[in-house]
Amino acid sequence: MSGSEKLVDIQDIATLAKYPFLKQSREYIKNLNISVEELLQDIAYERARLIGLERVENALKKGDVGNRSLATETDCIMELLSYPIARMISVCVGEPYLKRRYALGEAIHFYKYLQNEDIDFLLYIANELGMDVKTSDSKIEIYFVDYLKNAPTRYKEWKLVNRVLDKGYVYINHRELSRIIEENLRNRIIEELDSRECEEMVYKTFQKEIESFRNIVKLKIKKAKTKPIGKVSISLMPPCMKKILSMIQSGENVPHMARFAIVAFLNSLNLNFNEIMEIFRNAPDYEEDKTKYQVEHITGRKSSTKYTPPGCDKMRTYGICPIDETDELCKRVNHPLTYYKLKWKKSKGEGK
Ligand code: SF4
Repeated sequence: MSGSEKLVDIQDIATLAKYPFLKQSREYIKNLNISVEELLQDIAYERARLIGLERVENALKKGDVGNRSLATETDCIMELLSYPIARMISVCVGEPYLKRRYALGEAIHFYKYLQNEDIDFLLYIANELGMDVKTSDSKIEIYFVDYLKNAPTRYKEWKLVNRVLDKGYVYINHRELSRIIEENLRNRIIEELDSRECEEMVYKTFQKEIESFRNIVKLKIKKAKTKPIGKVSISLMPPCMKKILSMIQSGENVPHMARFAIVAFLNSLNLNFNEIMEIFRNAPDYEEDKTKYQVEHITGRKSSTKYTPPGCDKMRTYGICPIDETDELCKRVNHPLTYYKLKWKKSKGEGK
């Protein structure tokens, strides 16, 4: 029997508390018959509210929602209830930076637990998340479409060409399946937070903390924006690169081509590897190894190819030229690098 056909009946409330996104966990909460009003105001759930705040705060400051004791039934119930509370708070903070940071904090936390679970349990979770994963002759196999959707294929070892593909299924190991589930959960949480509106009752309950989170995020973004990038002057950068930079720092979704363009642009202006890495360090979903791999690849540090940034036509084709009609220089150039160089000359009084 393949793992995907096995039914896992989680009897243990500590397991439900560790994985609050599971159907069984959500049903458990539903059966407690607690109204949103009670959850937000009743003294009985104050601990759950505090843990909810702690989840968000830990994700924001430490990059992981954090561990708490799950020794008693009450511990587990409070942990379970804190999950929807933390998500409601994140929605009300409203900043894309915080939502992404929070989603990453939850996903990283789940990944740590997942690595210690047996394979049947991992298959159960993967299947519940809609992925086609099974075991065959003690091998773990994932349908290639689900693999491509969820695996971090930006890394060489994850690229499909470096994998064994058998009748549409890709072989993976236990740790890789945990990593794929982590990525799936992170994207799900972001999607869910982006699709929800802040409820007034939630805002009123956590107003002080929500405002404090907003201030922390705004300060972080402001600090990142005013930080010089090596010897490159931000004020001389073309609108397209300024926009990409601001998206990275605010935690917005930055398309792959835009990331490529900014790295290649800064590399062409002779910024060194560490200076380029620095612009990503303030991003909410910053992952050192992932960013390092991409930057090394684009800058030619690891291979012989050093990429040049795309010209204006290509930038427009990819939808990453903000087409600023008021910017006279944009009308005259056909490459972001030319824009920077002309503006630099003008700032030195050498050009018009
Ligand atoms: S016209 Fe060129 S330089 Fe100006 S914003 Fe668009 S891509 Fe950038």
